[in-house]
Amino acid sequence: MRRDASGFAARSWAEIDLPAIDRNVGRIKQALPARIRYVAVVKADAYGHGMPEVASRLLQAGVDCFAVANVSEAARLREVGHDGDILVLSPSLPEEHDRAVHMGLDLTLNSPDEARSLAAAAARAGRRARAHIKVDTGMGRAGIWHEKALALIRLVRESQDLEWRGFYTHFSEAESDHGFTAEQRRIFLSLLTAVPESERTRLMIHADNSAGLETFSRETPFNAVRIGLMQYGLPPAEGSFLQSLRPEPVLSFHARVVLVKRLPAGTAVSYGRTKVLERESRVAVVAVGYGDGVPTAASNRGRFLIRGRRCPVLGRVTMDQTVVDVTDVPEAAVGDVATMLGAQGADRITVAEFCAWSDCIPWEALCTLTQRVQRVYRSDRT
Ligand SMILES: *Cc1c(COP(=O)(O)O)cnc(C)c1O
Repeated sequence: MRRDASGFAARSWAEIDLPAIDRNVGRIKQALPARIRYVAVVKADAYGHGMPEVASRLLQAGVDCFAVANVSEAARLREVGHDGDILVLSPSLPEEHDRAVHMGLDLTLNSPDEARSLAAAAARAGRRARAHIKVDTGMGRAGIWHEKALALIRLVRESQDLEWRGFYTHFSEAESDHGFTAEQRRIFLSLLTAVPESERTRLMIHADNSAGLETFSRETPFNAVRIGLMQYGLPPAEGSFLQSLRPEPVLSFHARVVLVKRLPAGTAVSYGRTKVLERESRVAVVAVGYGDGVPTAASNRGRFLIRGRRCPVLGRVTMDQTVVDVTDVPEAAVGDVATMLGAQGADRITVAEFCAWSDCIPWEALCTLTQRVQRVYRSDRT
């Protein structure tokens, strides 16, 4: 049974299997040439797994450095004692630049204005600011549009206050459109020809996220990858190569049965009365709802494992409780563990299934687990 710090048994919790992180990182690293740097992406509280614990484990597992979404997330990494390289992936605001320089972060530059603001902050601090230039090669989100990129490259190269450390892009369809990905790679690499060889070899040059591994180019000049989802054990798509790495899910999600009762046929179950029982049923109330991260889209669709068997969600998922049908699980009792994600007995609810019921994508399924879900860290297999 899981207990929180005050000794109470947890009602909903996520178990984080830390040794699975070691194995996932090991397999990814093994699949890459040794010279490729592994940038571990730990934004959004390490994809809901918990930043400090997961970050230290990733370092032990041999990743080279970290990437986060913003300066506040980087500050949390510094607070827990990480003094190595941290790349901030999202565009930053001018008012964040003094702090970023002070912390020695690698910021991503997406526009000349952003570069000038960072350079000014560096001048005020009397030290050079570290920067990666991000190019938009067709994603239409962050990064400088590729046709405008040469001016930004020039600005950064010529600035006394900026240290140009990296050059990158992001693929918009690496998991589904290999042709478009190849085109993005081509546009990106063509920009590099404008950079003198001596400078280019000092840069970190990267494009690939987890899905990018499927079409990773072993040729120079790529020398780093930015890995999120795969290190948490989830392949972003059905790709043959990604699956051949046999990633192991790190997180599982559980809650307890807090009430079991019989309801007569004809009862409309749960809030909103969307499910009318066709037969007399035994139902279990599970202490988990959208306040924990089970989306209402899973209403009348999801399945929870109880005593190793799949129990259908009945009616609406509510904030704190979800009702499931345990008519066919006569031993089900108060205190039982219900599993929303992960294995129980011989069966397992995969993230892909959870996403199908919940109308979401794997990244989102992990990030939507809330603060109320206690994170429990397992250091070794039991
Ligand atoms: C989140 C993010 C990644 C990691 O992507 P995964 O699909 O989780 O591997 C890589 N690069 C950038 C720019 C990101 O924002």
